[in-house]
Amino acid sequence: MIASFTVDVEQDCPPYLSTWRGIGEGMPRLLRLLDEEDVRATCFTTGEVARRYPDLVQSIVRAGHELGCHGDTHRSFAEMAADDADGELRAASVTLRAFAPVTSFRAPYLRFPARFVELLGRHGYAIDSSEGRHKTAGVRVHRSHGVLRIPASITSSTLRWPETVRNLLLARLRQPAVLFVHPWEFVDLRRERLRIDCRFRTGDAALEATRSALRFLKARGAQFVPMKDCAVA
Ligand SMILES: [Zn+2]
Repeated sequence: MIASFTVDVEQDCPPYLSTWRGIGEGMPRLLRLLDEEDVRATCFTTGEVARRYPDLVQSIVRAGHELGCHGDTHRSFAEMAADDADGELRAASVTLRAFAPVTSFRAPYLRFPARFVELLGRHGYAIDSSEGRHKTAGVRVHRSHGVLRIPASITSSTLRWPETVRNLLLARLRQPAVLFVHPWEFVDLRRERLRIDCRFRTGDAALEATRSALRFLKARGAQFVPMKDCAVA
């Protein structure tokens, strides 16, 4: 089975927090884990992260991960006019492509109006992973305006569920299985005033949960490839 491990590289738990601990503390731990597990991921990164933390983006690229686009400012595209959306994509693309070729996209909050998909093609994107099987019933891999839309399989907090329940779900994922996490999940946010799904088992437990999920899927034959390679796989 083809699988992709993806990371939405952004500030801490938007829109609730305005800190960046995930970038400073979470990302180095996650990158180390991915290296240890020999998984090349896709890191959907905001333009803002790339401007604030260029060294991090360089280390993502150097480690062989795919650099993807997660919008420029992490504003929701669902609330933008077409001009706004176009400007947001342009700004993010210019910033990110200074580091590496960028052809995969995921919208913040997995909210991307269908009317904007043609903009992705115009800005040079080949893959969009803004839909979620856990959000929209019946959504599947399809092509639209020349863009291959590959939905995320499950929401990020699922990886932190109790292992037995989580593995039952992982065992049933359809290919390509697309997992995603955020850097801030690898920082201990248990005492923050956040929704329970944003904070439970964050920190060390999330790191170990991610490792065990990757190993579980690999033991079942999953091959992890960056999203750009899902199209040809
Ligand atoms: Zn996000």
